[in-house]
Amino acid sequence: MQESVIDIRGLDNAERIKVQLRTEAPKRWQVDDIVALFELPFADLMHRAQSIHRENFDPNGVQVSTLLSIKTGGCSEDCGYCPQAARYHTDVEKQDLMQLEEVLAAARAAKENGASRFCMGAAWRSPKQRDLEPVLKMIQEVKAMGLETCATLGMLKDGQAEQLKEAGLDYYNHNLDTAPEYYGDVITTRTYQDRLDTLERVREQDINVCCGGIIGMGESRVQRAGLLAQLANMERPPESVPINLLTQVEGTPMYGMDELDPFEFVRTIAAARITMPQSFVRLSAGRQSMHEGIQALCFLAGANSIFYGEKLLTTDNPEAETDRKLFDKLGIHPL
Ligand code: SF4
Repeated sequence: MQESVIDIRGLDNAERIKVQLRTEAPKRWQVDDIVALFELPFADLMHRAQSIHRENFDPNGVQVSTLLSIKTGGCSEDCGYCPQAARYHTDVEKQDLMQLEEVLAAARAAKENGASRFCMGAAWRSPKQRDLEPVLKMIQEVKAMGLETCATLGMLKDGQAEQLKEAGLDYYNHNLDTAPEYYGDVITTRTYQDRLDTLERVREQDINVCCGGIIGMGESRVQRAGLLAQLANMERPPESVPINLLTQVEGTPMYGMDELDPFEFVRTIAAARITMPQSFVRLSAGRQSMHEGIQALCFLAGANSIFYGEKLLTTDNPEAETDRKLFDKLGIHPL
């Protein structure tokens, strides 16, 4: 295997070190390998990510999904970033499960706006059977409109993934959020293993996996690399990898955190592209606060999927028209 030696700025001890970077992706990514990617000079990292992106995807195509919150707030979990947790005092208004017709109207509008996938999100720890049944109907009807379907409903119990598959679900979203070592600082009401178990149930049914995390929650660079290693080393890496930038919401424990350097976010996107060459890397929450120049760098780094629409669950997302203008400026077309 061909190898190249590249000078890299030091890690914790700030000494300049030399790391041998394999020109072919290792079968199993070590966290150190991924940290070494983050440490590359920006132009080198971008070149590498863009080259891999071009080998695997249409470089100017971006997949567009729309996300609708079908049940909002009142969640029993304690995710430290989430305004929908019942225990935090935020402006989010609790809303029961939406009616089928309202969901279908939103799906129709999403399709007219160019979305190819419609994601339905419900703030549940885990759906009860009586909750799941109306959602199955929504999935069937949205699928019948010719849209891909995605759902994020919390942890799945035995038998629930089967029902979702039968209803025609294409993707299930369940994020790992962060590296295992930092997870306890973010959530205490369920474990990392709980999340992996749900993902396994989804995989067993051959449903595509949408799984990523949130960046800027106070984690270290090593922990950002640790999250990517978890995702990239899955037996089958997720087909879709949402990389969210923390949207700080007043009333949540993570409100008031130091803001992440935007270039570190771009580096995370690039490292995700390199470690998961065939996955769609989705630029997700946090786009609202991102200058369009940084969004353009994210596309250059290999992001090739976005959420489109005014609201991302409960936080603002750039309006569809603003996104269309940005796509036009960059010569991007929706996939
Ligand atoms: S992220 Fe999901 S599970 Fe966690 S508190 Fe929010 S709605 Fe509940």
